[in-house]
Amino acid sequence: MSDLERYSRQILFQGIGEVGQRKLLKGRVAIVGAGALGTVIANHLVRSGVGYIRLIDRDLVELSNLQRQTLFDEEDAKLNLPKAVAAKKRLSKTNSTVTVEAVIADLNLENAEDLLKGFDAIVDGTDNFMTRFLINDVAVKFGIPWVHGAAVSSRGMFAVIKPGITPCYRCLFPHVPSGTGETCDTVGVLSPLTDIIGSFQAMETMKLLVGSTKTTPNLEQIDIWDHTSMQMDISKGRNPNCPACVNHQFDFLDRSSEHQVVYSTLCGRDTVQINPRNKRELDLKRAAEHLKKSGSVSGNEFLLRFSPEEGISIVVFKDARVLIHGTNDIVKAKLLYSKYIGS
Ligand SMILES: [Zn+2]
Repeated sequence: MSDLERYSRQILFQGIGEVGQRKLLKGRVAIVGAGALGTVIANHLVRSGVGYIRLIDRDLVELSNLQRQTLFDEEDAKLNLPKAVAAKKRLSKTNSTVTVEAVIADLNLENAEDLLKGFDAIVDGTDNFMTRFLINDVAVKFGIPWVHGAAVSSRGMFAVIKPGITPCYRCLFPHVPSGTGETCDTVGVLSPLTDIIGSFQAMETMKLLVGSTKTTPNLEQIDIWDHTSMQMDISKGRNPNCPACVNHQFDFLDRSSEHQVVYSTLCGRDTVQINPRNKRELDLKRAAEHLKKSGSVSGNEFLLRFSPEEGISIVVFKDARVLIHGTNDIVKAKLLYSKYIGS
């Protein structure tokens, strides 16, 4: 029993017990996004003893994250650590008996299947619809249950999607919503909200892992400022013509689809991401030597940060992916990219 002692309070809970705990210890979960939701989800799952966690994130820690992204501190921001790396560092101190794998990457159609297949569950810690549709395609294709979550302003939602059983994300949202919705860019987001939604997601994930029938049948919605909540029963909501879960047509994994974006803006900050289609390994040292002539350069083994002008900072990752901070203007970002990084 000694190896289970640290989980004793959770084993005492009838819905889990020793049998459930052993299932958690064997569980494999991929978390997409290590931001406000992802850090909360990862924290709960690691403390609860989920055996293997792959944490995928494309971004680095910044001071403005610390208001809500609970695994990071000022030192991480100062060191420009990638979020996946900083989260792993913290989580490994919390529970050294489980495996946390940090993946610094933008989930896209090139890597989504490789990064997500073979897991018992996928958890959505993303901030955008495109990535959710991509997760949904992989999850439906490989029959992996996933837990959706979203939070903006004081409002959040979550749902459990079991391919072939419940509606899939595309049954619920047949089309990619246009850019008219509010985002945390425009209306902000509250820390207690992301904590609550991420906690619900972690709980639903644990239910999936232990094989409980108690996962929510609802699209749950909460407003923590106006203290209202709504449970929308989606259990009968499968679309008989769903392209994904009925026709097995996975548009978001289709290379010829127009859904593919190379340029995207990041939620929460003035940032444009540029993700070159032709992946290559960059020699960061050489790139730093080259960029030093045009501005200040700092960095670490994972990335370099370059500031060519006041208010603009360009972060270059080893896989040639680039974040341009200080602008939401994609045209300007492209210009900066071709000027300093090349195509
Ligand atoms: Zn569907």
